[in-house]
Amino acid sequence: MKVLVIGGGGREHALVWSLRKSPSVTEIVAAPGNGGIQPLAQCVPVDVNNVQAMVNLVAIEQPDLTVIGPEVPLALGLVDELEKRKLRVFGPTKAAAQLESSKAFAKAFMQRHAIPTAEYALCTTLDEVRESLGRFQLPVVVKASGLAAGKGVVICETRLEAEKTAAEMFSGVLLGSAETEVVLEEFLTGEEVSFFALCDGKVAVPIAAAQDHKRVGEGDTGPNTGGMGAYSTDGLLTPAMRQWVMHNIAQKVVSGMASEGTPFKGILFIGLMMSPRGPMVLEFNTRWGDPETEAILLRLETDVLDLFNAAIDGKAQELTIRLKPGASATVIAASGGYPGKYASGKPISGVEETGDGVVIFHAGTAIKDGQLVTAGGRVLAVTAEALDLRDALERIYTRMKTISFEGMQYRRDIGHRALR
Ligand code: AMP
Repeated sequence: MKVLVIGGGGREHALVWSLRKSPSVTEIVAAPGNGGIQPLAQCVPVDVNNVQAMVNLVAIEQPDLTVIGPEVPLALGLVDELEKRKLRVFGPTKAAAQLESSKAFAKAFMQRHAIPTAEYALCTTLDEVRESLGRFQLPVVVKASGLAAGKGVVICETRLEAEKTAAEMFSGVLLGSAETEVVLEEFLTGEEVSFFALCDGKVAVPIAAAQDHKRVGEGDTGPNTGGMGAYSTDGLLTPAMRQWVMHNIAQKVVSGMASEGTPFKGILFIGLMMSPRGPMVLEFNTRWGDPETEAILLRLETDVLDLFNAAIDGKAQELTIRLKPGASATVIAASGGYPGKYASGKPISGVEETGDGVVIFHAGTAIKDGQLVTAGGRVLAVTAEALDLRDALERIYTRMKTISFEGMQYRRDIGHRALR
């Protein structure tokens, strides 16, 4: 069968790599793909922010299945457009993707369905922000409601700072476009864990827990990024806690969305804070996370195609998702200057397969005149699995020494919380 994968980052490389292992998959098209995907799939250029262009591409390629990686096409309703045409597609509809694309929607939904999350106030004007701020202790969290590529959350130490942040979100200064809804949220403390579940519209089944590192600097310092590394271990959540999260969060989300007439199909990524009051939802993503996916898919033993089919056909309950026991991790090699300004087009060396079991997923690369070059802030996701997290990381960091491109930076402390 022929599969079309939409997107061109490390997550999509990992999805294509997993699909390649499926005996049923004969052909893969990636749009737009990247330099690492190119040897595994036919890459065709497409603007993932343009629904019509993607619908046209599907009409031309006629895949048996379309898998959507990034959040923007989901929020724009690509799944709805393909389902209207009776095509098989993995991912949530526009209405269901609101769990990620609108924090205002997600917070109200969680309140309606008694899903544990921080106290909040939804504000549409600066006056409302000023009025509501009195209800919160400091620090207070100010969030843009819409998609903001990881830049829409600011933790504010003073009310003045919170007001200023909200004003900048409303005016468009902070995010480049004006935000109409701002969420104020109670500041929570604790360990953060992400949990991934597969949902088929009625039932949620567990995949794995992971933890990522958002800050650019070692010791979790410096500005936020799309993610500088992640790891997944069996021990991140106890079996009892995993069951609790499935029962009290994941299944409640799927049942709640079904009861509201907007069934959720696809990957539910739950960002959790393990607070002293118990696990609380920080956010939902409605797709595979990046770079957690690179680490998780390396451990996946079940055919990834079975996951997609089970979600689409409402058969998740019949599926057992098996992961290799132990741990996996991924470390991002990023361009110098990222997450600020960075240069592209730098030749990359040392990414050839060496038989050391390390898999290098490409996040932002391209092939120019036969040469692999950098083409993004996050360039490579260097990934390994082992029975023990320490071993997986050791293999990754040994391999890191052989990879190079001008300005390459990476964190040397991925997984430090688990190792501690
Ligand atoms: P979000 O996009 O909502 O997951 O927020 C991004 C990051 O901001 C999270 O991973 C947390 O580190 C932090 N954050 C978000 N909400 C809160 C909160 N209510 N309390 C403390 N930290 C938060």
